[in-house]
Amino acid sequence: MRYKVSNNFYLDEFYVSKDHPELARAMVIKTEEVISLTRVATLICQPIRDFLGHGVTISSGKRDNMLNAAVGGEPTSQHRYGEAADMDIDGDEAWRAYIYAIKHLINDISQVIIYLNNTSIPTFIHGGVKSFRPECRKVGEALVKVGGLYIPFSDRRFDNIRTRYREI
Ligand SMILES: [Zn+2]
Repeated sequence: MRYKVSNNFYLDEFYVSKDHPELARAMVIKTEEVISLTRVATLICQPIRDFLGHGVTISSGKRDNMLNAAVGGEPTSQHRYGEAADMDIDGDEAWRAYIYAIKHLINDISQVIIYLNNTSIPTFIHGGVKSFRPECRKVGEALVKVGGLYIPFSDRRFDNIRTRYREI
């Protein structure tokens, strides 16, 4: 039986990998991850899904050490603890979802990151929940990953984006 973690998300949607499905399937689900992923779903994925008004695919949720290494994740990644999810949302809709998260969800989460490709088009969104782990105490960080760098969304180069989506 599938285990529901929010209105529209199931736990198994967070144990996935397009490039390494065998590693995703091999992961052993731990109770503390179920709690963390329930928070990821209810505090980030579900509100964004509700805002967009249609289904959102999770491209990466929990990663054990092997899967995290295989996908080139940071060793300190919140994915390792089931505290983060990558959402398959791109283009204009990704900017809208990102701005929505910053305006409405940010105080309850650790960070939201929008990933841009080499033509500055959004390709996916990463969201993480607040953590009790001492090495991960950040709250409300909004970053843009572009050209290999993490840049604060408050940077002046994103003034036009903030203006374009100010109604959200
Ligand atoms: Zn991520």
